[in-house]
Amino acid sequence: MEWADELAARVTGPQVVNDSKTPSGTVHVGSLRGPVILDVIARALRAAGHDTTLLYGVDDLDPMDAQALLTPDAVGRYMGVPLAHIPDQVDDGHASYARHHAGVFIDTFAGLGIQPDRYYWMSEQYAAGDMDPYIRTALDRADRVRDVYRRVANVRHPDTWHPVSVICEQCGRVGTTIVTQWDGERAFYECRPDLVTWAHGCGRSGWVSPFGGRAKLPWNLEWAAQWSLFGVTIEPCGKDLATAGGSRDRSDAIAREVFEREPPINVPYEFLLIGGRKMSTSKGQGVPAHRIAEVVPPEQLRLLFLRPRPNHAIEFEPEGTDAIPRLFDEFDRLAAATAGRPVKGELPPGYAAVFRYSLVDPNADPAAEASAFRISFRRAAMFVQGRLDTDQRAAEEKGSALTDGQARMLKERLVAAGRWLELYAPPNERFVVARVAVPGSARALNTGQCRFLRTLADDVERTTPRTGEDWQAVLFRTAESVGLEKRLAFAAVYAAFLDRPDGPRAGWLVADLFAEDSEFVLKRLREAAAGGTLVP
Ligand SMILES: [Zn+2]
Ligand SMILES: [Zn+2]
Repeated sequence: MEWADELAARVTGPQVVNDSKTPSGTVHVGSLRGPVILDVIARALRAAGHDTTLLYGVDDLDPMDAQALLTPDAVGRYMGVPLAHIPDQVDDGHASYARHHAGVFIDTFAGLGIQPDRYYWMSEQYAAGDMDPYIRTALDRADRVRDVYRRVANVRHPDTWHPVSVICEQCGRVGTTIVTQWDGERAFYECRPDLVTWAHGCGRSGWVSPFGGRAKLPWNLEWAAQWSLFGVTIEPCGKDLATAGGSRDRSDAIAREVFEREPPINVPYEFLLIGGRKMSTSKGQGVPAHRIAEVVPPEQLRLLFLRPRPNHAIEFEPEGTDAIPRLFDEFDRLAAATAGRPVKGELPPGYAAVFRYSLVDPNADPAAEASAFRISFRRAAMFVQGRLDTDQRAAEEKGSALTDGQARMLKERLVAAGRWLELYAPPNERFVVARVAVPGSARALNTGQCRFLRTLADDVERTTPRTGEDWQAVLFRTAESVGLEKRLAFAAVYAAFLDRPDGPRAGWLVADLFAEDSEFVLKRLREAAAGGTLVP
């Protein structure tokens, strides 16, 4: 986390931090890495005393292009049309396709504690004429732009190529047009049927004024023009754009040579990989950002993106794995370490800052947050599947009543665990207590296991253990006293209560059931030990 504080230490003067996104369709969870990094940079700058403005833009005059085809949302007849000019395909009140997908994505920001000072929409900037000076400069210096492309990216445009795309007056497409002449006020464009493979132009050609929203700059020039328009000083970008000769290099060169301004400081960041694959935008089977934000609470989601340095990829596969429980465990571990408690395993460098920047509220007291009592995620998942008064049970484990804040945190984890069990958890994390009758698998227990269950019933009737830890100790002690392998002892417990060979931590499972109904537990242990239902 020192990277953000180091960055804040080496800049001077007021800072403008910017990022923008093309709303091609449903936005994948990995796309949250940029906004989280952006927010941490802004927090670090402000903590260092810099006057800081955080901007977030939507590149909504971009056409629906090949990128949209990677999402489940592309609409064939609008290929090549600016995203801001395509009707919302979901009937929920947004003004356009762009407003819908950008809106659903941006709506996750506030919950994550990311609060840009201002959002901007490029369709509005163009329409207001804010981009006109840059369009004029780019056209006047078209030869210099072509030269930059040739030198930096080895892309050779013909001498007639001009760096602006007119929105076709006939078919409304912007992805299919090319400008071949510029007379100082008007541009001559052609809407070509075969300019790109993913959209077909209508064949129209003519002279038009490229100003006031009738045309847009190609991405590399638009990016550089944004830096000039907003005075951007720092802009992180994804690794795919930061390659040698790639998008960022081109825009940097255009900023210097065409718009005559030093480009902002770059903070390149790596991808979030799902099952080892990069997913920039969601395919049908991907994980949309707004969906994951419904399952993973904000502080754990921030941690997901902040634990590795920006230049390290993140592996995250929530589907059918324990990736989400592990994320919570890591959060709790960093909290414990920050609070000065001993923890297992190696700690990441700057772990206290990682914890601090994971908090949603930038003004929260990290020491108080770190030492707060938390029920583990896995324990919350057991609570959700039981029938307990969870506040009371949690208070017993804490040793005193929960504060309001702790009760809120417990509620948050119960909701998260419930959603996780519903959507992502592997089948063995879900369990149902066989409450009505002794399950079938208990009939297959061997004599050693039956003796274990009988002895266990006698022991707990006498000692009435209360907590999961107490119960865990009794299970171990009893297994040892009857000379039964621990593996077989635990299997007997799972068979008796869950009708399966494994399950969540046995001590806590039975402790919860015992707290709820001790008679049921004693009866079930004896019934299972007898190989069937006990006749009273
Ligand atoms: Zn909508
Ligand atoms: Zn056209």
